[in-house]
Amino acid sequence: ERLVSGDVHREDISLEYSLRPKFLHEYIGQDKVKDNLKVFIEAAKMREETLDHVLLYGPPGLGKTTLAGIIANEMGVHLRTTSGPAIERPGDLAAILTSLEPGDVLFIDEIHRLHRSVEEVLYPAMEDYCLDIVIGKGQTARSIRIDLPPFTLVGATTRAGALSAPLRDRFGVISRLEYYQPEHLTQIVMRTAEILHVDIKAEAALEIARRSRGTPRIANRLLRRVRDFAQVRGDGTITFSLAKEALELLQVDRLGLDHIDHKLIEAIIEKFNGGPVGIDTIAATIGEEAQTIEDVYEPYLLQIGFLQRTPRGRIVTPAAYKHVGMEVPKHE
Ligand code: ADP
Repeated sequence: ERLVSGDVHREDISLEYSLRPKFLHEYIGQDKVKDNLKVFIEAAKMREETLDHVLLYGPPGLGKTTLAGIIANEMGVHLRTTSGPAIERPGDLAAILTSLEPGDVLFIDEIHRLHRSVEEVLYPAMEDYCLDIVIGKGQTARSIRIDLPPFTLVGATTRAGALSAPLRDRFGVISRLEYYQPEHLTQIVMRTAEILHVDIKAEAALEIARRSRGTPRIANRLLRRVRDFAQVRGDGTITFSLAKEALELLQVDRLGLDHIDHKLIEAIIEKFNGGPVGIDTIAATIGEEAQTIEDVYEPYLLQIGFLQRTPRGRIVTPAAYKHVGMEVPKHE
């Protein structure tokens, strides 16, 4: 498992629940998303209506699941959690929907992975709070309609582009989560440290934040690793120099890049003179799937401006050359 990946690791699971903010005011950063949601939640509560369906998209670990829980808490309703791949047949979805109480929030993670047949059951459910179920086969088949309690669907996806248009169109609120700025991540690290009763200096929190790729899940994970280090090597307090030393041992560089990022950048520089080079060629060169590079490795490198996507392929930027200590070639 990659230390700097935003995906959930086994080691994260036990703590994530206790680290999740429960209400909007505890949720750090993402001000635009928060301001929007605040208005919609207030309005729905004033009208005593169910909140409109919400689609959250953005890289893993940025706080989509957390927001779904917050929406339910703010609305004062229950949260039901499931995921696209977990709902195998239309009947599975029907079972969940018919068990909701009025106003409940249904959270579907990885909603882009819903089966088409399940998705089709979701359309009338989202639009008219009802299920159209076909019973019987052939000549005797007939359709019956079941009314559902009004509910709010909160969908999360890492790839908004992978969602079908009819599904996307049925969300009233579509919000994109952004990578966090170091200041906000520092606050998140300080908050987590307090919950875990860890003594940490502000400069140390900032150092962890800087190396966390804009992602709270990674920041919390690095904090836990550095805490172990502080207990074994120090007196338990996380100072700046201790944090720096621990992160270097963990091979997370000062921008949060690890050996895989370095391998990718250096391969494009050394084998393709910095690009442009097509994604499939890169994939073959470093022995990874093109899809994995696009979904997992690239987004952060694009975000910090180390890679650029052009019609002719990927290019390594001068900033990336500098970071890996290589000279930018002079193109004639
Ligand atoms: P996602 O669903 O996008 O993968 P999660 O909601 O599971 O991400 O968040 C991952 C972890 O990061 C959670 O443990 C949560 O506590 C923390 N986290 C995410 N966003 C925030 C935030 N804005 N403020 C504080 N902690 C956050």
